[in-house]
Amino acid sequence: MAVLWDQLEQYQPIVMKMLARSIEKERVAHAYLFEGQRGTGKREVSLLLAKSLFCLNRLTYRPCNECRNCRRIDSGNHPDVHWIEPDGQSIKKGQIEALQEEFSKTGVESNQKLYIIRHADKMTNNAANSLLKFLEEPHRGTTAVLLTEQYHRMLPTIISRCQVLSFRTLPPTAIADYLREQQIPPHLALLAAHVTNNREEALELSRDDWFADARKIVLQLYEALQGNPSYALFMIHEKWMPHFQEKQQMDIGLDLLLYLYKDLMYLQLDQLENIVYCDRLDSLQQWALACSQKRMIQNMSTILQAKARLNTNMNTQLLMEQLILNLKEGRPFV
Ligand SMILES: [Zn+2]
Repeated sequence: MAVLWDQLEQYQPIVMKMLARSIEKERVAHAYLFEGQRGTGKREVSLLLAKSLFCLNRLTYRPCNECRNCRRIDSGNHPDVHWIEPDGQSIKKGQIEALQEEFSKTGVESNQKLYIIRHADKMTNNAANSLLKFLEEPHRGTTAVLLTEQYHRMLPTIISRCQVLSFRTLPPTAIADYLREQQIPPHLALLAAHVTNNREEALELSRDDWFADARKIVLQLYEALQGNPSYALFMIHEKWMPHFQEKQQMDIGLDLLLYLYKDLMYLQLDQLENIVYCDRLDSLQQWALACSQKRMIQNMSTILQAKARLNTNMNTQLLMEQLILNLKEGRPFV
């Protein structure tokens, strides 16, 4: 389903406002550079801009998303909208030359043309120099959109010829809203949105059974920690280690545990709006009563220490056993 203007306006209000104004006043720039991390909506905004430029039933600045042009742009089949992506590791001079060749003709269906270059920082030097010449002599009715996650790698000469729009990193609540729109249950959406600030990664994670199971194991581990520490150690062997096999998975597991302690803290501070394990309020309330604020802070810092030790050569099972004992005793790593 096509992403709508209003949805992106929630995530990238400044970018969308600037584009809306330019489209409405028919003052669209010759070249834009969209910069920001992966998953911040650069590709979706490029699509919307393309549709706004070519839509047959545009309403002020919004594309209708239904006309022939909008549909062809959504499916990548509009003859005057060109996408360029790295061919292997880089964008090569030949690709830019082919584009110039194509753009020396007038539009197939109108007098407008648009090209979008994804990962523009991956242009070879020759490709970048070719593009530079192209940007220096803009053709009428031609719009360029360059996308990059690595702004610092773009040539300053190219940057200076583009209107730069910065895409902000999304707050967890925005990512969670997006995930819920994709039918992810709220408790998983909010948790995944805290693990990564990349929408696509968060979506992948929350659709993975591994993630839902990870969450269950973390909750069980916390429960075990409240009772019998030898049972908690048993859980590490039987459940935790087989599930969190890679260091990166272990890192996510520790994050999930950390959010649980943060939730207890938020509960004690009466900041319910920050709670991540939102479907477990009853258990959280019981647990929060049984734990002092001082201990919570100590335990959060112990988990952070364990996360830091993941990057050393320490045996991960030993690390987890040590963590359990430290959490139980409320003491730091030594
Ligand atoms: Zn349309």
